[in-house]
Amino acid sequence: MAERIDGKVIAAEVLDKVKAETEKLVAETGVQPGIAVVIVGEDPASQFYVRSKGKRADECGFKSVTHRLPAETSEDALLKLIGELNDDASIHGILVQLPVPDHIDDGKVIQAISPDKDVDGFSFVNVGKLTTGQLGSAFVPCTPAGSMVMIRKALGTSDLSGLNAVVVGRSNIVGKPMANLLIAANATVTVAHSRTKDLPSVCRAADILVAAVGRPEMIKGEWVKPGACVIDVGINRVDDPSSEKGYRVAGDVDFDEAEKVAGSITPVPGGVGLMTVAMLMASTLISACRVAGKEPPSF
Ligand code: NDP
Repeated sequence: MAERIDGKVIAAEVLDKVKAETEKLVAETGVQPGIAVVIVGEDPASQFYVRSKGKRADECGFKSVTHRLPAETSEDALLKLIGELNDDASIHGILVQLPVPDHIDDGKVIQAISPDKDVDGFSFVNVGKLTTGQLGSAFVPCTPAGSMVMIRKALGTSDLSGLNAVVVGRSNIVGKPMANLLIAANATVTVAHSRTKDLPSVCRAADILVAAVGRPEMIKGEWVKPGACVIDVGINRVDDPSSEKGYRVAGDVDFDEAEKVAGSITPVPGGVGLMTVAMLMASTLISACRVAGKEPPSF
Protein backbone atom coordinates (compact mmCIF):
# COMPACT_ATOMS: atom_id res chain seq x y z
CA MET A 1 0.00 0.00 0.00
CA ALA A 2 1.32 3.44 -0.93
CA GLU A 3 2.42 5.95 1.66
CA ARG A 4 -0.07 8.84 1.78
CA ILE A 5 1.50 12.23 1.17
CA ASP A 6 -0.49 14.32 3.65
CA GLY A 7 -1.20 17.84 2.36
CA LYS A 8 -2.53 18.94 5.73
CA VAL A 9 0.71 18.08 7.54
CA ILE A 10 3.07 19.42 4.87
CA ALA A 11 1.07 22.66 4.34
CA ALA A 12 1.08 23.22 8.13
CA GLU A 13 4.88 22.81 8.15
CA VAL A 14 5.21 25.40 5.38
CA LEU A 15 2.88 27.83 7.18
CA ASP A 16 4.73 27.36 10.50
CA LYS A 17 7.98 28.24 8.76
CA VAL A 18 6.38 31.29 7.10
CA LYS A 19 5.12 32.47 10.51
CA ALA A 20 8.50 32.02 12.21
CA GLU A 21 10.41 33.68 9.35
CA THR A 22 7.92 36.57 9.26
CA GLU A 23 8.50 37.24 12.96
CA LYS A 24 12.24 37.20 12.32
CA LEU A 25 11.97 39.55 9.34
CA VAL A 26 9.82 42.05 11.24
CA ALA A 27 12.13 41.94 14.27
CA GLU A 28 15.31 42.37 12.20
CA THR A 29 14.18 44.85 9.55
CA GLY A 30 10.75 46.24 10.48
CA VAL A 31 9.41 45.00 7.12
CA GLN A 32 6.05 43.24 7.49
CA PRO A 33 5.03 41.13 4.47
CA GLY A 34 1.92 42.57 2.82
CA ILE A 35 -0.47 40.81 0.47
CA ALA A 36 -3.33 42.28 -1.55
CA VAL A 37 -6.00 39.98 -2.94
CA VAL A 38 -8.38 41.37 -5.55
CA ILE A 39 -11.65 39.71 -6.45
CA VAL A 40 -14.14 40.89 -9.05
CA GLY A 41 -17.69 39.54 -8.83
CA GLU A 42 -19.53 37.12 -6.60
CA ASP A 43 -18.45 33.64 -7.77
CA PRO A 44 -18.91 31.52 -4.60
CA ALA A 45 -15.86 29.30 -5.17
CA SER A 46 -13.66 32.37 -5.75
CA GLN A 47 -15.09 34.06 -2.64
CA PHE A 48 -14.20 30.94 -0.65
CA TYR A 49 -10.60 30.88 -1.96
CA VAL A 50 -10.18 34.60 -1.25
CA ARG A 51 -11.45 34.24 2.32
CA SER A 52 -9.07 31.37 2.99
CA LYS A 53 -6.13 33.36 1.56
CA GLY A 54 -6.98 36.32 3.85
CA LYS A 55 -7.25 34.04 6.86
CA ARG A 56 -3.91 32.33 6.21
CA ALA A 57 -2.23 35.71 5.66
CA ASP A 58 -3.53 36.97 9.02
CA GLU A 59 -2.27 33.79 10.72
CA CYS A 60 1.16 34.31 9.18
CA GLY A 61 1.40 37.82 10.63
CA PHE A 62 1.10 39.58 7.27
CA LYS A 63 -0.60 42.81 6.44
CA SER A 64 -3.52 41.57 4.40
CA VAL A 65 -5.96 43.58 2.31
CA THR A 66 -8.80 42.24 0.20
CA HIS A 67 -10.36 44.37 -2.52
CA ARG A 68 -13.85 43.09 -3.32
CA LEU A 69 -15.03 44.74 -6.53
CA PRO A 70 -18.51 44.42 -8.07
CA ALA A 71 -18.91 42.23 -11.17
CA GLU A 72 -19.56 45.30 -13.37
CA THR A 73 -16.14 46.85 -12.52
CA SER A 74 -14.49 48.10 -15.72
CA GLU A 75 -11.13 46.80 -16.94
CA ASP A 76 -9.71 50.33 -16.59
CA ALA A 77 -10.79 50.56 -12.95
CA LEU A 78 -9.19 47.20 -12.19
CA LEU A 79 -5.95 48.18 -13.97
CA LYS A 80 -5.91 51.45 -12.01
CA LEU A 81 -6.20 49.55 -8.71
CA ILE A 82 -3.36 47.22 -9.75
CA GLY A 83 -1.25 50.29 -10.58
CA GLU A 84 -1.88 51.67 -7.08
CA LEU A 85 -0.96 48.35 -5.47
CA ASN A 86 2.21 48.19 -7.60
CA ASP A 87 3.19 51.59 -6.14
CA ASP A 88 2.26 50.70 -2.54
CA ALA A 89 5.49 49.90 -0.67
CA SER A 90 3.60 48.04 2.10
CA ILE A 91 2.35 45.43 -0.41
CA HIS A 92 4.77 42.67 -1.51
CA GLY A 93 2.35 40.31 -3.20
CA ILE A 94 -0.62 41.03 -5.47
CA LEU A 95 -3.07 38.35 -6.46
CA VAL A 96 -6.06 38.78 -8.73
CA GLN A 97 -8.46 35.89 -8.18
CA LEU A 98 -9.31 34.22 -11.50
CA PRO A 99 -11.58 33.95 -13.37
CA VAL A 100 -12.47 37.63 -13.84
CA PRO A 101 -15.76 38.52 -15.60
CA ASP A 102 -15.79 38.11 -19.40
CA HIS A 103 -15.60 41.85 -20.19
CA ILE A 104 -12.14 42.00 -18.56
CA ASP A 105 -9.07 40.69 -20.40
CA ASP A 106 -7.40 38.43 -17.81
CA GLY A 107 -4.11 38.38 -19.75
CA LYS A 108 -3.90 42.16 -19.62
CA VAL A 109 -4.67 42.15 -15.89
CA ILE A 110 -2.02 39.51 -15.09
CA GLN A 111 0.66 41.33 -17.07
CA ALA A 112 -0.22 44.63 -15.34
CA ILE A 113 0.97 43.24 -12.00
CA SER A 114 4.58 44.19 -11.31
CA PRO A 115 6.75 41.05 -11.79
CA ASP A 116 8.31 41.87 -8.39
CA LYS A 117 4.89 41.43 -6.72
CA ASP A 118 3.51 38.70 -8.98
CA VAL A 119 3.38 36.01 -6.29
CA ASP A 120 1.25 33.81 -8.57
CA GLY A 121 4.18 33.65 -11.01
CA PHE A 122 2.05 34.23 -14.11
CA SER A 123 3.79 37.30 -15.56
CA PHE A 124 5.97 36.82 -18.63
CA VAL A 125 9.06 37.82 -16.61
CA ASN A 126 8.48 35.12 -14.00
CA VAL A 127 7.53 32.49 -16.59
CA GLY A 128 10.76 33.36 -18.42
CA LYS A 129 12.84 33.09 -15.26
CA LEU A 130 11.37 29.69 -14.40
CA THR A 131 11.87 28.42 -17.95
CA THR A 132 15.50 29.58 -18.00
CA GLY A 133 16.16 28.06 -14.57
CA GLN A 134 16.57 31.34 -12.67
CA LEU A 135 14.55 30.12 -9.73
CA GLY A 136 16.43 32.25 -7.20
CA SER A 137 14.76 35.45 -8.40
CA ALA A 138 11.51 34.07 -9.84
CA PHE A 139 8.03 33.63 -8.44
CA VAL A 140 6.77 30.16 -9.26
CA PRO A 141 3.05 29.30 -9.65
CA CYS A 142 1.86 28.06 -6.26
CA THR A 143 0.24 24.72 -7.16
CA PRO A 144 3.29 23.27 -8.96
CA ALA A 145 5.57 24.77 -6.29
CA GLY A 146 3.52 22.97 -3.62
CA SER A 147 3.61 19.75 -5.64
CA MET A 148 7.41 19.95 -5.74
CA VAL A 149 7.56 20.31 -1.95
CA MET A 150 5.47 17.12 -1.70
CA ILE A 151 7.67 15.23 -4.18
CA ARG A 152 10.82 16.21 -2.27
CA LYS A 153 9.23 15.08 1.01
CA ALA A 154 7.98 11.78 -0.40
CA LEU A 155 11.27 10.90 -2.09
CA GLY A 156 13.48 12.39 0.62
CA THR A 157 15.61 14.27 -1.91
CA SER A 158 15.58 17.45 -3.94
CA ASP A 159 17.75 15.91 -6.67
CA LEU A 160 15.62 13.89 -9.07
CA SER A 161 18.56 12.79 -11.26
CA GLY A 162 17.86 9.58 -13.13
CA LEU A 163 14.12 9.64 -12.44
CA ASN A 164 11.47 9.75 -15.17
CA ALA A 165 8.67 12.25 -14.52
CA VAL A 166 5.45 12.37 -16.52
CA VAL A 167 3.18 15.41 -16.23
CA VAL A 168 -0.29 14.86 -17.66
CA GLY A 169 -1.61 18.31 -18.60
CA ARG A 170 0.10 21.27 -20.28
CA SER A 171 -1.73 24.30 -18.86
CA ASN A 172 0.17 27.49 -18.11
CA ILE A 173 -1.00 27.36 -14.49
CA VAL A 174 -0.04 23.79 -13.63
CA GLY A 175 1.35 21.46 -16.33
CA LYS A 176 4.03 23.65 -17.94
CA PRO A 177 5.47 25.19 -14.75
CA MET A 178 5.40 21.73 -13.13
CA ALA A 179 7.45 20.33 -16.01
CA ASN A 180 9.95 23.20 -15.72
CA LEU A 181 10.36 22.68 -11.97
CA LEU A 182 10.98 18.96 -12.53
CA ILE A 183 13.57 19.74 -15.21
CA ALA A 184 15.27 22.17 -12.81
CA ALA A 185 15.42 19.30 -10.27
CA ASN A 186 17.18 17.09 -12.87
CA ALA A 187 14.26 14.76 -13.65
CA THR A 188 13.79 13.47 -17.19
CA VAL A 189 10.42 14.94 -18.09
CA THR A 190 7.62 14.01 -20.47
CA VAL A 191 4.59 16.27 -20.82
CA ALA A 192 1.45 14.43 -21.94
CA HIS A 193 -1.87 15.99 -22.98
CA SER A 194 -5.07 15.27 -24.87
CA ARG A 195 -3.20 14.49 -28.13
CA THR A 196 -0.79 12.04 -26.54
CA LYS A 197 -0.86 8.53 -28.03
CA ASP A 198 -1.21 5.59 -25.65
CA LEU A 199 -1.30 7.63 -22.46
CA PRO A 200 -1.41 4.53 -20.19
CA SER A 201 1.98 3.31 -21.38
CA VAL A 202 3.46 6.83 -21.19
CA CYS A 203 2.27 7.03 -17.57
CA ARG A 204 3.63 3.56 -16.77
CA ALA A 205 7.17 4.84 -17.48
CA ALA A 206 6.88 7.44 -14.72
CA ASP A 207 8.79 7.26 -11.46
CA ILE A 208 6.99 10.52 -10.66
CA LEU A 209 3.50 10.90 -12.13
CA VAL A 210 1.76 14.28 -11.89
CA ALA A 211 -1.89 14.42 -12.96
CA ALA A 212 -3.26 17.88 -13.82
CA VAL A 213 -6.04 17.07 -16.24
CA GLY A 214 -9.42 17.97 -14.76
CA ARG A 215 -11.02 14.56 -15.49
CA PRO A 216 -12.20 12.65 -12.44
CA GLU A 217 -10.33 9.40 -11.76
CA MET A 218 -9.09 9.13 -15.34
CA ILE A 219 -5.70 7.69 -14.36
CA LYS A 220 -6.18 4.06 -13.42
CA GLY A 221 -4.13 1.82 -11.16
CA GLU A 222 -2.74 -0.15 -14.07
CA TRP A 223 -1.30 3.08 -15.57
CA VAL A 224 0.90 3.51 -12.50
CA LYS A 225 4.42 2.09 -12.31
CA PRO A 226 4.85 0.02 -9.14
CA GLY A 227 6.47 2.18 -6.47
CA ALA A 228 5.90 5.48 -8.31
CA CYS A 229 5.30 8.79 -6.57
CA VAL A 230 1.85 9.99 -7.68
CA ILE A 231 0.83 13.63 -7.33
CA ASP A 232 -2.84 14.27 -8.05
CA VAL A 233 -3.51 17.95 -8.75
CA GLY A 234 -7.06 17.41 -10.02
CA ILE A 235 -10.03 18.86 -8.16
CA ASN A 236 -13.27 17.64 -9.72
CA ARG A 237 -16.86 17.61 -8.52
CA VAL A 238 -18.58 14.29 -9.06
CA ASP A 239 -22.32 13.77 -8.49
CA ASP A 240 -22.90 11.68 -5.39
CA PRO A 241 -26.51 11.42 -4.25
CA SER A 242 -25.38 9.54 -1.12
CA SER A 243 -23.47 12.59 0.15
CA GLU A 244 -25.17 15.46 1.99
CA LYS A 245 -24.06 18.02 -0.57
CA GLY A 246 -25.05 15.83 -3.51
CA TYR A 247 -21.47 15.68 -4.77
CA ARG A 248 -17.99 14.62 -3.73
CA VAL A 249 -14.57 15.94 -4.70
CA ALA A 250 -12.40 13.58 -6.76
CA GLY A 251 -8.90 13.84 -8.17
CA ASP A 252 -7.69 12.93 -11.64
CA VAL A 253 -6.32 9.64 -10.32
CA ASP A 254 -8.40 6.62 -9.34
CA PHE A 255 -7.07 6.71 -5.79
CA ASP A 256 -8.35 3.33 -4.60
CA GLU A 257 -6.67 1.55 -7.50
CA ALA A 258 -3.49 3.64 -7.64
CA GLU A 259 -2.88 3.40 -3.89
CA LYS A 260 -2.34 -0.34 -4.28
CA VAL A 261 0.44 0.14 -6.85
CA ALA A 262 2.17 3.44 -6.07
CA GLY A 263 4.98 3.97 -3.56
CA SER A 264 3.49 7.27 -2.40
CA ILE A 265 0.37 9.20 -3.40
CA THR A 266 -1.51 12.41 -2.58
CA PRO A 267 -5.19 12.05 -1.65
CA VAL A 268 -7.94 14.36 -2.95
CA PRO A 269 -9.12 16.17 -0.92
CA GLY A 270 -6.33 16.61 1.61
CA GLY A 271 -3.44 16.71 -0.84
CA VAL A 272 -2.08 19.28 -3.29
CA GLY A 273 -5.08 21.62 -2.82
CA LEU A 274 -3.92 22.54 0.68
CA MET A 275 -0.42 23.36 -0.53
CA THR A 276 -1.46 26.10 -2.97
CA VAL A 277 -2.40 28.72 -0.37
CA ALA A 278 0.57 27.79 1.84
CA MET A 279 2.96 28.38 -1.08
CA LEU A 280 1.27 31.72 -1.81
CA MET A 281 2.16 32.80 1.72
CA ALA A 282 5.72 31.51 1.23
CA SER A 283 6.06 33.55 -2.00
CA THR A 284 4.79 36.72 -0.31
CA LEU A 285 7.32 36.29 2.49
CA ILE A 286 10.08 35.71 -0.09
CA SER A 287 9.03 38.92 -1.86
CA ALA A 288 9.22 40.90 1.39
CA CYS A 289 12.67 39.42 2.16
CA ARG A 290 13.92 40.52 -1.26
CA VAL A 291 12.67 44.08 -0.63
CA ALA A 292 14.27 44.10 2.83
CA GLY A 293 17.59 42.88 1.38
CA LYS A 294 17.49 39.62 3.38
CA GLU A 295 18.24 36.15 2.02
CA PRO A 296 14.78 34.51 1.69
CA PRO A 297 14.19 31.11 3.32
CA SER A 298 13.76 28.13 1.02
CA PHE A 299 10.67 25.98 1.03
P1 NDP B 1 -6.71 22.87 -17.93
O1 NDP B 1 -8.08 22.53 -18.35
O2 NDP B 1 -6.18 24.24 -18.20
O3 NDP B 1 -5.68 21.82 -18.57
C1 NDP B 1 -5.97 20.46 -18.60
C2 NDP B 1 -4.90 19.72 -19.35
O4 NDP B 1 -5.25 18.35 -19.37
C3 NDP B 1 -4.74 20.16 -20.79
O5 NDP B 1 -3.38 20.29 -21.11
C4 NDP B 1 -5.39 19.05 -21.59
O6 NDP B 1 -4.78 18.79 -22.84
C5 NDP B 1 -5.15 17.85 -20.69
N1 NDP B 1 -6.16 16.83 -20.94
C6 NDP B 1 -7.51 16.96 -21.00
N2 NDP B 1 -8.09 15.80 -21.27
C7 NDP B 1 -7.11 14.88 -21.42
C8 NDP B 1 -7.08 13.51 -21.73
N3 NDP B 1 -8.20 12.82 -21.93
N4 NDP B 1 -5.89 12.90 -21.79
C9 NDP B 1 -4.74 13.58 -21.58
N5 NDP B 1 -4.71 14.90 -21.28
C10 NDP B 1 -5.88 15.54 -21.20
O7 NDP B 1 -6.64 22.54 -16.36
P2 NDP B 1 -5.65 23.07 -15.22
O8 NDP B 1 -4.26 22.73 -15.54
O9 NDP B 1 -5.99 24.46 -14.84
O10 NDP B 1 -6.17 22.16 -14.01
C11 NDP B 1 -6.06 20.75 -14.04
C12 NDP B 1 -6.74 20.17 -12.81
O11 NDP B 1 -6.09 20.67 -11.65
C13 NDP B 1 -8.20 20.56 -12.63
O12 NDP B 1 -8.89 19.48 -12.03
C14 NDP B 1 -8.15 21.73 -11.68
O13 NDP B 1 -9.35 21.87 -10.93
C15 NDP B 1 -7.01 21.33 -10.81
N6 NDP B 1 -6.31 22.45 -10.16
C16 NDP B 1 -6.01 22.29 -8.84
C17 NDP B 1 -5.35 23.28 -8.18
C18 NDP B 1 -5.01 23.05 -6.76
O14 NDP B 1 -4.83 23.97 -6.00
N7 NDP B 1 -4.86 21.78 -6.34
C19 NDP B 1 -4.97 24.54 -8.81
C20 NDP B 1 -5.22 24.56 -10.25
C21 NDP B 1 -5.90 23.54 -10.86
P3 NDP B 1 -4.82 19.83 -24.08
O15 NDP B 1 -3.84 20.90 -23.72
O16 NDP B 1 -4.40 19.00 -25.22
O17 NDP B 1 -6.23 20.32 -24.15
